Amino acid sequence: MIYLDYNATAPYSPSVKCFISEQMSEMWANPSSEYPISVELSEKISQVRNSLAEYLNCSSKSLVFTSGATESINTVLSLETLKKLGVETIISSLMEHHATLDRLKFLKANGIDVSFISNDINGNLNLSEFQNLVGPKTLSSFLFANNETGVINPIQEMTKISHQAGGLFHTDAVQGFGKIKIDLEALDVDFASFSGHKIGSLKGIGFHFARDIRKIHPLLQGGSQERGLRPGTINFAGIWTLGLALSDLSINDIEKVIELKNNLEKSLVEQFGFKINCFETNRLPNTVSVRMPGKVAREVLFSLARLGICVSTGSACTSGSFEPSHVMKSLGFDRETAGSCLRISLGPLNSNEDIEILINKLKGLYGN
Ligand code: PLP
Repeated sequence: MIYLDYNATAPYSPSVKCFISEQMSEMWANPSSEYPISVELSEKISQVRNSLAEYLNCSSKSLVFTSGATESINTVLSLETLKKLGVETIISSLMEHHATLDRLKFLKANGIDVSFISNDINGNLNLSEFQNLVGPKTLSSFLFANNETGVINPIQEMTKISHQAGGLFHTDAVQGFGKIKIDLEALDVDFASFSGHKIGSLKGIGFHFARDIRKIHPLLQGGSQERGLRPGTINFAGIWTLGLALSDLSINDIEKVIELKNNLEKSLVEQFGFKINCFETNRLPNTVSVRMPGKVAREVLFSLARLGICVSTGSACTSGSFEPSHVMKSLGFDRETAGSCLRISLGPLNSNEDIEILINKLKGLYGN
């Protein structure tokens, strides 16, 4: 099998694999109890929190573990947190992940004003619209990088604009985490959401950053875990594997992935006449969104899947019929064009051979 869908989830990193097969069964204690087997796990959790804080350049006190980015986003964008912050308007984009978009739909139905700024066909957000909307009672929420196009938003600039107007800023940083440098101090965001499985941890673990943790209202009420900000028995295995996956990240992998991506894009364009979406825009090193005129991306996906190659489309099944990706539609593509877009997302375990096999299989299917 050739796995080319890292933006959906990453395979377990080498240290995580080793932990699962050799140590996990011994580390079952409740980290909040007070005997040595638990204290040991609690200390390990502090180590992971400190490593994350160092990696992201923030205080370890500003990080709260959750079940994943969906929960983190829902916590920051909860009615209670918004009330605590005095937020009346949320500013966002139609290209956001459903974790944000569906939350915003709920907020809107509950009386919160939600405004979306527009974007161009290259995935660039309209910053003058943004500038006109921000104010002292706004919370802006934007992806650090888009999961389908890979476009990296100018978060530092947007945070500055928001802060100058007295507003707050949250970023869904899931797709940037582990792929490019994220410096929370430099970005100056107020809140950020992260997920572990996109870098190779177990699933069901994530965390959020809040510059001032007192500004977050807990989504759940219960015990005092995570200082009462995220009650519920701590997911030790998730947190520990998040730390292990973090320790497996390497700058060399990023360089290798950039080279693979460049080779892949060149072949897709030169050999098939396909187009790369948002080609000129600043994008993640691993993400290729390819437009295949005259093809139905879901059919390409299934043909490749039968040949053992995993890629994706951003389409969603609504009442039994497939809707092309909302992101592709937001770029301004009509239904047919949006439905011809395929996402190929690479990772450190991919090789030049994987790219060659993909290209050869596509040739076998469609000629060139
Ligand atoms: N945000 C983005 C950009 C994502 O790609 C994902 C995962 O698909 C999420 C949020 C949700 O993350 P999780 O699976 O941790 O809830």
